[in-house]
Amino acid sequence: MDPHLARLLTSQRTCRCCGATFAQLISLSCDRPDICSDEHIVQDNTAVLTEAGDVLTEDFCRIGDLHFLRAVLALPINNAGETEFILGTWASVTADDFHDYHSLLDMGEVDTMGSRPAWLANTIPLHEGQPPAAKIQPRGDGQYPDLDVVETSHSLHTLQQRGLEFEDLLEMLYAYGHDLPSLLYDA
Ligand SMILES: [Zn+2]
Repeated sequence: MDPHLARLLTSQRTCRCCGATFAQLISLSCDRPDICSDEHIVQDNTAVLTEAGDVLTEDFCRIGDLHFLRAVLALPINNAGETEFILGTWASVTADDFHDYHSLLDMGEVDTMGSRPAWLANTIPLHEGQPPAAKIQPRGDGQYPDLDVVETSHSLHTLQQRGLEFEDLLEMLYAYGHDLPSLLYDA
């Protein structure tokens, strides 16, 4: 592993803006799809069935005719062993796949679902523009589905395939507004 990265991953230094360590920052999450306004509070997953209209829960979001599932976009980090940059994101899926996922999750059989087409529903800094076509792979054991970008002409596809260099990782964290000097250098 890159020695500089290895040192950062075990460092106790914290980001001045949010108080997180570097190790904590390589796992970021969006609590809702970009299209879902902050007015919606996160409810229990059962609200998908009990509430009519727009709803946001831990794993599901429904806005008008649009259906979203929480997923994980994992970006490999080069020279970092198994360490990945994990972005908790949302995926736009069909109504059928949304309901399939809901009932299979209820029965604890979501790992039998197989991959489904999806669209990334959160803008990723440095990779703005049209959201890329993707697919989600539901997983068991309470893990969010894996999201793989399949649109080969999209910059996120390239990034997911070739992995992030250390500098790319720092650029992403900076683009998310974190205070790099407080993480990289002793005060
Ligand atoms: Zn921060």
